[in-house]
Amino acid sequence: MPDSLTLTLTHLYPDHLNLYGDTGNLIVLRRRCQWRGIDCTVKSLSMGEVSRPGETDLYFMGGGQDNDQVAVVEDFHQLKADTIQADTEAGVVFLGVCGGYQLMGNTFLMGNGQETPGLGIINVTTKAPGTEVKQRCIGNLVAEIPDAMYEEIQSLYAESQAGKSQIIPKTLVGFENHSGQTFLGEGVEPLAKTVAGFGNNAAAEYEGARYKNVFGSYMHGSLLPKNPHFADYLIGLALRRKYQDPTLTLPPLADTEELEAHHYAVARYGSTRG
Ligand code: GLN
Repeated sequence: MPDSLTLTLTHLYPDHLNLYGDTGNLIVLRRRCQWRGIDCTVKSLSMGEVSRPGETDLYFMGGGQDNDQVAVVEDFHQLKADTIQADTEAGVVFLGVCGGYQLMGNTFLMGNGQETPGLGIINVTTKAPGTEVKQRCIGNLVAEIPDAMYEEIQSLYAESQAGKSQIIPKTLVGFENHSGQTFLGEGVEPLAKTVAGFGNNAAAEYEGARYKNVFGSYMHGSLLPKNPHFADYLIGLALRRKYQDPTLTLPPLADTEELEAHHYAVARYGSTRG
């Protein structure tokens, strides 16, 4: 393991896909690296810019209006798809939130019936009201992390973190506001089980999706400030892959305010549905 660790984050379409402060997720990732002495670089990849393979350790794509999503699709397929598909198949971490999540899938069927080809990174399909689905999903969202992922998150922390007084939450909290409803296909796992709110669709069973190290979520807020354990999970996955060290751990951070906000959201919204 080198003395100093580096990480490169790439923000996809920051001008088009950045609803409800989703850029806050990049601020959290960069600060949590800096607090640990990890040299973190944040690049942006906008319309007209070409992505290069092997340059990114973690991609982020935020939410957007339907038209913003449509606006980037052609650019993505022409200038970015090959690299990002190769990177994500090789295990590069990718987080897409809401519109960014929908776009990562196969198609996004808009309320006017227009079918938009997605980026094909993860096998999910999104439909919108005015088609077979009727309800807009808005409100606070609480979801429970699957056991296997939770154990992997715990393994990221050096012994002292795992033994420290505050327990790593087994939940994710956020705020959702989407007309599109997403359905998971073959080979894709849910990110978490919905406890309160909707998540992927009005059936309100699961939130988000995972394929390899590609994660989709409907949680705005932004997602990571109130879910520091998930932020560290993404950082840890990216570092473990980059340095080919599956046992790499992260030194503990206090996370006092972050976890207070998390536990407040769970206590206030954790038992209501929808
Ligand atoms: N435009 C998409 C929808 O309405 C995504 C919205 C968002 O990113 N919050 O479903």
